[in-house]
Amino acid sequence: MSIKEYVSDDWTIKIDHDKCVGAGDCVDVCPSDVFVLVDGKSTAPNVDDCIECCACIGACPVEAIEHTSC
Ligand code: SF4
Ligand code: SF4
Repeated sequence: MSIKEYVSDDWTIKIDHDKCVGAGDCVDVCPSDVFVLVDGKSTAPNVDDCIECCACIGACPVEAIEHTSC
């Protein structure tokens, strides 16, 4: 399992890189530009900018994203 964790003061976003197919839906749907694709995998360097809308959870076609507030 290759799960990347991005931690802010109030929430954590986990992205399973074994599942991620680089579809980019999370990048497109996030209103706060939290996600960045790196080498075909999603990363969340701007985790602190998240507004907890939870759109990324439903947008990912392979359920690769977990969010402790969603
Ligand atoms: S939507 Fe899911 S599969 Fe697509 S880049 Fe984001 S995490 Fe990866
Ligand atoms: S919960 Fe909303 S704001 Fe936060 S990372 Fe997901 S899409 Fe972006």
